[in-house]
Amino acid sequence: MDKTDPLKMIHNIPQPAFEQYLTDVLAKDSNVDIRRGVSFISLRQDGFQAVITTVEERTTGHQFQIRSKYLIACDGARSKVRTGLGIGSDGEDSYETMMTIHFNANLRPIVGNRVGMLHWIADPLASGFIIAYDLSGNSVLISNFDATKQPVESWNQELCRQTVTSAIGKDIPFDVLSYRPWVLSRKVARFYRQGNVFLAGDAAHSFPPTGGLGLNSGLGDVHNLAYKIALVLQGKASERLLDSYDEERRQVAIVNSIQSVKNGKQIFGLLKTLGIGEDAVRARRNLYASLGDPDKKREIDEGIEAQREHFDNLALHIGYVYGDKSIPPHASKYVPSFAVGARLPHAWIRLLRQQSSTKPNLAPVDVSYVDEFSADDIQLRQHSTLDLCDIDKFTLLGNLDSVPGVKSYRLGRDFEVVGPGADGWLASSGLDKAGGLLVRPDQHILMVLDATNTAKDVEIVLDKYLGRSH
Ligand SMILES: Cc1cc2nc3c(=O)[nH]c(=O)nc-3n(C[C@H](O)[C@H](O)[C@H](O)COP(=O)(O)OP(=O)(O)OC[C@H]3O[C@@H](n4cnc5c(N)ncnc54)[C@H](O)[C@@H]3O)c2cc1C
Repeated sequence: MDKTDPLKMIHNIPQPAFEQYLTDVLAKDSNVDIRRGVSFISLRQDGFQAVITTVEERTTGHQFQIRSKYLIACDGARSKVRTGLGIGSDGEDSYETMMTIHFNANLRPIVGNRVGMLHWIADPLASGFIIAYDLSGNSVLISNFDATKQPVESWNQELCRQTVTSAIGKDIPFDVLSYRPWVLSRKVARFYRQGNVFLAGDAAHSFPPTGGLGLNSGLGDVHNLAYKIALVLQGKASERLLDSYDEERRQVAIVNSIQSVKNGKQIFGLLKTLGIGEDAVRARRNLYASLGDPDKKREIDEGIEAQREHFDNLALHIGYVYGDKSIPPHASKYVPSFAVGARLPHAWIRLLRQQSSTKPNLAPVDVSYVDEFSADDIQLRQHSTLDLCDIDKFTLLGNLDSVPGVKSYRLGRDFEVVGPGADGWLASSGLDKAGGLLVRPDQHILMVLDATNTAKDVEIVLDKYLGRSH
């Protein structure tokens, strides 16, 4: 981030840039073979032994088969794998149709110093919102249009141009890069596994983008699944471990989908309260009348407060506890939990012993761009408790020395918890009372140890989790 720029935006990575980053990382991995322009056609399963997938090269029409032990279908909301397997979905079929228009205007002169990423358009000619990934030239307009007046088939470049110009409010140069309709719907597949085929990402669940929960839900799916498949393939876990993928991840999607629909309804309800609708002239008059009406003020204030869960929803991103079926009371109220199934809460740590066996794989965090931090503050914020958890290992934090197959970090010898929240973290985790935490490779807690627990107790819990006999 440029420290000299007074008009800073929050961190945001445009999805195309993120996908390119992933592609670049994967291209360097010799275990990964990336094939472009290849479509999934069909699959059949040879019992639990193998999945035989038929795919087609789009340019040549050439079909070939891939034999694999497992298949993870991440082919999006209209997943052909899911429909081919006959897996139905729970949820509402259709809620409202929206048009996404990708364009490249320089919006900086328009917004001035209001450099937000999300700009709501309260204008009936272009009701919706602009997601400004890069205010200088890469944005998306999500237009909430009336499909009875403007059917999806009637949309073309010209209508997109008119809509974007109305949304911007000024006639400035831009190109329409693409446009695509989508339906504001909520769907969660009835099951995520059929034999050796797993659904992940939008193929498993799709919900309105109101809340920005889609991508993280998909990443969470594969974070949960990948290490389990690896352990089974390495012969370290029983096949049964793979059933826990559905049990754990479907509940997260159900909660996130319900919240996303609620957010969508609340934002469109607010626009209604403001009096937006029908033709532009009446809508503007209604809007200003509503804003000046003291009786409506309370309703508008409540409508704005109701948006909190829409934009501040950490409890959904990292607050879920596997095994807990309750719906979080408020999406904004993230309370770090040290229960079994919860994601290990973050705390800043200082590494005391930098041996290869205890060194985290991740490079130190660099928060030097935060103007408010002193040199000491920056120094304290280099590593997180989460950095201690390798993606392919179980990790023990606490006071036990060694457990076979587990990476152990001893408090006071290998690391110490630092920073403002240190005492609270140590007390809540039980580490200050000689307890400990056994953490799965996906950073979720598997066992909470007290001072009486031994290495044998940890082994018993691990054996049970992995379905190993002992
Ligand atoms: C307007 C909008 C705004 C959004 N904003 C946010 C946000 O702010 N934050 C957030 O977290 N999420 C957001 N989302 C949701 C997010 O984009 C999705 O959750 C995410 O892209 C899902 O990733 P995925 O890989 O599962 O599916 P997709 O991104 O849909 O990828 C599926 C891939 O499978 C390929 N494919 C499909 N069929 C076949 C086939 N037969 N053969 C081979 N390949 C196939 C497709 O070409 C595509 O590359 C938004 C969505 C929309 C529509």
